[in-house]
Amino acid sequence: MLALNRIETFYGETQALFGPSLQIGRGEVVCLLGPNGAGKTTTIRSILGLTPPRRGTIEFDGADITGQATHRIARLGIGWVPDDRRIFPSLTVARNLQIAVKKTAYRSWTTEEMFEIFSALEHLMGRECENLSGGEMQMVAISRALLGAPGLVLFDEPSQGLAPKIVQDVMRTVRRLKEEGIGVLIVEQNALAALEVSDRVYVMDRGKIVHEGDAAALLSDAALRQRLIGM
Ligand code: ATP
Repeated sequence: MLALNRIETFYGETQALFGPSLQIGRGEVVCLLGPNGAGKTTTIRSILGLTPPRRGTIEFDGADITGQATHRIARLGIGWVPDDRRIFPSLTVARNLQIAVKKTAYRSWTTEEMFEIFSALEHLMGRECENLSGGEMQMVAISRALLGAPGLVLFDEPSQGLAPKIVQDVMRTVRRLKEEGIGVLIVEQNALAALEVSDRVYVMDRGKIVHEGDAAALLSDAALRQRLIGM
């Protein structure tokens, strides 16, 4: 579904990614962990074409998307749940969701299905987004990504600032996406909830992949976990 091949990404002259390679299969949940400044967000920005890699390639569903415009990449079926949610604050929830609807080669979702996944969402439709809580905002951000009919969804720090109950709701949604055959990349500093829901894990440090393996294996190996992610 997604393959990053030795990408090198820069901010001006400063290199942030030093050749990480990463793969995500159809219906596979992969998490990317690592400390502050490791390059996790830059990896997402590279995939989305927000900060395109200067070297290396990115393939999505067999097509080379390296250097393509962000709106084209989104139209191909890559959904994004950004860490700062990026919802239009002065628009209602309904309007934010309405403008997110797209058709792609992948499964389309309806607003009714979003209400089934997030039972509280229906009652929020008329609210302006600036008045939402963090958890409500996350529901809107995930629904917006799904209404764009993604084949792959990138979650940037999905549990940041959220209560444990809401983090569980987010992870339940990730499982649902997996059942639907959608690939998922979760970028997290807070590793345990992400590892529990993931098939595979990559750990990144200073712009490089320093560990790649089975998520369950890392979860059950306390010594390795402590060494790699400090928890
Ligand atoms: P965090 O969890 O803090 O978001 P991260 O793993 O996502 O960390 P990145 O944000 O991808 O890390 O940062 C990777 C490197 O790129 C860091 O050294 C960071 O200082 C640098 N960097 C990030 N954004 C910029 C920018 N806009 N301009 C210059 N350097 C940047």
